[in-house]
Amino acid sequence: MAEGSREGSLDAPTRHPIDWNNPEFYDEAKLDDELRRVFDICHGCRRCFNLCDSFPRLFDLIDDSESGELDTVSSKDFKPVVDACTLCDMCFMTKCPYVPPHEFNLDFPHLMLRYRAVEKKKGEIGGGMEAQLTETDRNGKLGSSLSGLANWATDRKNGLTRGVMQGVAGVHKDAALPKFAGKTFEKQAAENPPAVNASAPAHGRKAVIYATCYGNYNNPEIGTAALAILAHNGVEAEVVYPECCGMPQMEQGDLARVETKAKNIAKTLKPYIEKGYHVISLVPSCTLMLKFEWPLISPDDEDVKLLSGSTFDISEYIVDISKKEGLAEGLKPLDGDVSVHIACHARAQNMGQKAAELMKLVPDTKLHVVERCSGHGGSWGIKKEFFEVGMKVGKPVFRQALNKGQAKYVASECPLAGLHIAQGMEATGSDNPLPETVPHPVVLFARAYGLSF
Ligand code: SF4
Ligand code: SF4
Repeated sequence: MAEGSREGSLDAPTRHPIDWNNPEFYDEAKLDDELRRVFDICHGCRRCFNLCDSFPRLFDLIDDSESGELDTVSSKDFKPVVDACTLCDMCFMTKCPYVPPHEFNLDFPHLMLRYRAVEKKKGEIGGGMEAQLTETDRNGKLGSSLSGLANWATDRKNGLTRGVMQGVAGVHKDAALPKFAGKTFEKQAAENPPAVNASAPAHGRKAVIYATCYGNYNNPEIGTAALAILAHNGVEAEVVYPECCGMPQMEQGDLARVETKAKNIAKTLKPYIEKGYHVISLVPSCTLMLKFEWPLISPDDEDVKLLSGSTFDISEYIVDISKKEGLAEGLKPLDGDVSVHIACHARAQNMGQKAAELMKLVPDTKLHVVERCSGHGGSWGIKKEFFEVGMKVGKPVFRQALNKGQAKYVASECPLAGLHIAQGMEATGSDNPLPETVPHPVVLFARAYGLSF
C-alpha cells in the first residue's frame, strides 16, 4: 500500500462488472478472504457507522470479540451483517473513499450481493415463500384482478389475515403493504391517453415510459401524473411494460434471473430508442437497474448498454425539459409546504437531487429536503426479522419529513419508502394533522399544474 493512499482516490468512482459467471465468484474460501479484507478496512475506517444497521452490527461484532480485531471473529457470524444490508448503495456512493479506482478496490454493497449469490446457489435463500413474495408480476396480476379481496387481506389493520401472513410468509404483521390497483397503469393509459399540447416548448420530444411493476400494478397514479405532465409539455409518450426489472431477485442473489429480465426488457425497448424515444422509468430503484446495475451484470449485451445510456428517471426528465426547452405554462403554488425525500436509489444514480429540483420549479412553495435512508429497502423492510430495524433506521427521516409540523405535503420518489415514511410519521405522531399519503413528487407537480391529481 502506498504511503498516503488511505486519503482516498481523487478520480471519479467507477464500478466493476459483477463477475457472477466466474466459478471463483462462488468459491467460499475466496469469498471469505474478500469479506475479511473489506471488513478489516471498514473496521479501521468507520465512516459508515450511521448509514444502516449493517455497519453497527459489523463494528460491534469485531469490537466485542476476544482480541477486538477481526482475527477472533468467526466467519459464521458474518451473516447478520450481510442480512442487514438493503443494497441501498449509499456507502459506495456517498461515503467510501476506497471505491475503484482506489487500490483498495472496495465495493461493499456488491460484496454483500456476492455473499447472497453464494447463499442462493447453495439453496439457503430465495426459495419457498421468500421467492413467492418477489414474484411481483404474478402477484401484481392476481392482486389487481382481485384488488378488493387482496387489499382487504393485506391491510395491516386486518388482524385475521396478517397474523397468518406473518406465520406463513414471514411478512411482519404491522408492516404497511402496497395496495393493488383495480386497473393497471397500462390499461389506464390505453383507455385515457391525454391530449398532447402542440404549442408547448418541448413539443417534438418522444418518450416511452417503462411502467415498472409498482407503477403498473400498485400505484398507477405515478404514471398517470407523469403522462399528464408530459402531454401538457408537448411530449408524445407511450407506455410499455414487458416485466419487472428484477430488483427483488437481485436482493435474493439471483443474478441469472436478473440478466434474463434485463435482456428481454432491453430488447423490447431497443426499437423505440432507435426511433429517437427517450426511456423514462417511474421508480428510482428500477431506473438504477436500467442505468447502472444491468450493464454490470450483463456487460457484453449491446441492447442493455444502449438502454442504459437512454434512460431517465421521471423527475430527471422533467427537469431536463425545464433546462433545455423550458416548461409549458400553468404551474401554480401548492397550498402548503412540501417535504421531499430523496430516495437512496435516486442518490445512487449520481444525478443530483432531481426531485428537489423538480419541486423548486413550483412557484412560491416552501420546500424542505430530506436526504437520508428511510430504512425500507424493498422487500427487506416488510420481513418479520427486519421491519423493526427498518423503522429504527428511518426514525430521523420520519421526524425530518414532518418538519416540526410545517409540511402539509410529504413526497418521496420511492413509493415503498413513501409507504414506510407514512407509517413512520404515524408512529412518531404530531400535534398537527399528518399527511394521509406520501406520493411521488410528480403527483404534486401535476397538481400544481391543475391536472386533477
Ligand atoms: S448498501 Fe446501504 S444498507 Fe448496504 S451496507 Fe451500504 S449503506 Fe448499508
Ligand atoms: S464502506 Fe468505505 S467508507 Fe464505509 S466504513 Fe467501509 S471503508 Fe469506510
